[in-house]
Amino acid sequence: HWKHGGIVGVFGYGGGIVGRYSDVPDKYPGVAHFHTVRLNQPSGMYYSTSKLRAICDLWQKYGSGMTNMHGSTGDLVLLGTTTPNLEPLFYDLTHNLNQDLGGSGSNLRTPSCCLGKSRCEWACIDTQAICYALTMRYQDEIHRPAFPYKFKFKFSGCPNDCVASIARSDLSVIGTWRDDIRIDQAAVKKYVSGEYKPNAGAHAGKDWGKFDINKEVINLCPTGCMKMDGDTLKINNAECTRCMHCLNVMPRALRPGKKQ
Ligand code: SF4
Ligand code: SF4
Repeated sequence: HWKHGGIVGVFGYGGGIVGRYSDVPDKYPGVAHFHTVRLNQPSGMYYSTSKLRAICDLWQKYGSGMTNMHGSTGDLVLLGTTTPNLEPLFYDLTHNLNQDLGGSGSNLRTPSCCLGKSRCEWACIDTQAICYALTMRYQDEIHRPAFPYKFKFKFSGCPNDCVASIARSDLSVIGTWRDDIRIDQAAVKKYVSGEYKPNAGAHAGKDWGKFDINKEVINLCPTGCMKMDGDTLKINNAECTRCMHCLNVMPRALRPGKKQ
């Protein structure tokens, strides 16, 4: 039995700590307080091993040692500490680890993004740069709740939407292209002949039969804007909704347009 919420936090901040108290503290004194601390994750969730060790050591010192990597907002979540430990934890976190709290409650929640151009060939926008710029611009709104409800930003580099911005944010930014999908017709033929594995070989391990471009790509295009003209793939780009299906199945043959 937990009492969730309540006023608990660190000086100067209104968010970042979620208060949690046991309903039966006499029975379970070890978890009479079990507050959650949310840390602002790095863009794209890149950590060095030494940073992760330092965070875990800090949490071993001031909390339960249990973590949640990561919460659905994107924060690094540290589970279970007491009210007297919050200020010393916050001091060490900000002074020694150069790490800040994330958001909780009725504020701007920690903006999050996919790893974008740092690694992904599909990225049409620099998600990490956008996420960093807006996180810095809206520090006050992240740390000091000013809204009647939470608000979330999320940034995905392409419509595969790896951070689920459509489902999990209030302001979803998704990179796309304005011109035509680039087609390498020679590579299309290699998928059709079986020389290239569809989905970059991701579904290998089971015999799905010979690759059928009509069954697996063209007939699954949601707007029906693809067709084979002999052995040439044609796309009516004006009707393409950028769903990414064909690009994901034949990544060596199809690429987003250049005007991104
Ligand atoms: S959303 Fe697109 S650009 Fe971002 S990691 Fe996923 S596939 Fe890559
Ligand atoms: S991206 Fe989607 S809508 Fe566009 S051509 Fe490919 S399958 Fe069709």
